[in-house]
Amino acid sequence: MTNTLYDLFQSNFPTDRSRPFLEVPGGRTWSYADLEDETARLARVLVGAGAAKGERVAAQVEKSPEAILLYLACVRAGAAYLPLNTAYEAAEIEYFIGDARPAVIVCRPADLDRMSGLGGGAKVLTLGTGGDGTLMQLAAGETPAFETVAAAPGDLAAILYTSGTTGRSKGAMMSHRNLASNASTLRRIWGFTGEDVLLHALPIYHTHGLFVATNCVLASGSRMLFMPRFDARGAVRLMERATVFMGVPTLYGRLLAEPSLNAGALRHMRLFISGSAPLLEETFRLFGERTGHTILERYGMTETGMLTSNPLDGERRAGAVGPPLPDVEARIAGEDGNTLGADETGVLEVRGPNVFAGYWRQPGKTAAEFREDGFFVTGDLARISADGYVSIVGRTKDLIISGGLNVYPKEVEAAIDGLDGVGESAVIGLPHPDFGEAVTAVVARAGAALSEEAVIEGLAGKLAKFKMPKAVRFVDELPRNAMGKVQKNELRARYDGLYTGDAHRNRPLPNPPPSRGRE
Ligand code: AMP
Repeated sequence: MTNTLYDLFQSNFPTDRSRPFLEVPGGRTWSYADLEDETARLARVLVGAGAAKGERVAAQVEKSPEAILLYLACVRAGAAYLPLNTAYEAAEIEYFIGDARPAVIVCRPADLDRMSGLGGGAKVLTLGTGGDGTLMQLAAGETPAFETVAAAPGDLAAILYTSGTTGRSKGAMMSHRNLASNASTLRRIWGFTGEDVLLHALPIYHTHGLFVATNCVLASGSRMLFMPRFDARGAVRLMERATVFMGVPTLYGRLLAEPSLNAGALRHMRLFISGSAPLLEETFRLFGERTGHTILERYGMTETGMLTSNPLDGERRAGAVGPPLPDVEARIAGEDGNTLGADETGVLEVRGPNVFAGYWRQPGKTAAEFREDGFFVTGDLARISADGYVSIVGRTKDLIISGGLNVYPKEVEAAIDGLDGVGESAVIGLPHPDFGEAVTAVVARAGAALSEEAVIEGLAGKLAKFKMPKAVRFVDELPRNAMGKVQKNELRARYDGLYTGDAHRNRPLPNPPPSRGRE
């Protein structure tokens, strides 16, 4: 069964299983032999606890090597692994558990009572950061032998709830084929070999840290330096022993702020990959100047795994996410669903072995997001250049319609980001009595002295009048989720009554006098 995920991994494990798979700097190292033994033990525990083939195993646990082993044990047992963001609160967890109905829940020891109280008959086990808790206790009593349950390529390997920066989270069903095909492709196009050392600094409840990073290591028999939490100084120090780093743009920003980051410290590094949110051209440029490394930006989403990547060899273009992966078809659709030509902006649609089967128990929502010919509607606004590079322009829901004219926030953000004194910006549409929606800029300053007038003046002549922000507000930092995505919902809520006069802390507009104060 070459399409089952674990078989793919196993066929790429080093012949010498004593080679390291995962090292916690300053702590323990797990070899590939340990991986095989521990996942066998854990799979036995899971099956014994009721996680038979096709059942779900939900995990809300801190990042730890054991959590990675738990994921692999699920895959071996034929159960679907369902990681949950550690930041989710009780009410959110209740929704996920009620929706997914897992047979087994693994939670942090402190959450045991709360999780046990959720009902639904799931067996609740615990896992702490140091490998403590009932899960590993039970595993210690098992023998390290387990025959990986045969899975068909279309069988479920994981359910990942979408990060839900717009609307409610939906459970994306990922099959063995989805994950295995993406892992094989990424390993190949990014040139992973058994000699690579990946610095793993991302959360593992999200597709980036769990599938992109971890699966590339497993599918190439390489190893990872495993940071339970990212810190820039520690990361730079570990890069002296690493060859590949994967980060979200926020991490690159933090690396740039770290004085010890320089070309010398990175002499063994061969590749820096960025994704999950748009990489500012400024960050791309500054990182290149400082380190001599050209960040490779790629693009993907929970539902599809990775879709495009700038090349390992060839031009890595700033502001673009590269051509579609070799086994991915991509096209741009116009408003009536027709396919658009080169450089025209529309909704990106994709098809390939990595594209998910649908949303868990939501056939209606699934059907609404697929075209009849099997293309998945990503919801991202994009264009494809004549030479095949995809650029992400924004999200469909992010589109601002002001006075009946379409404004893509990304374009306005790029113009604002190019102004002196701007750290970064987010552009949102807010209800406006006249325009319907008004283009509004929220700016984090790079220095102290930047006024609303200066921003508007700086943009004059660069943007069509209808794209110009009607107001500029200043913040210390843009609100972001753990994956570095700007939370525009939060900004929209914060400034909701700016033009309609019902927000007590904002003046009614239109044509406000420039604001100098920070919000
Ligand atoms: P998630 O499902 O949490 O991985 O979020 C997927 C979304 O993140 C995509 O639909 C894009 O909107 C955004 N995204 C991911 N990578 C990039 C990138 N390199 N550039 C711009 N947006 C990105």
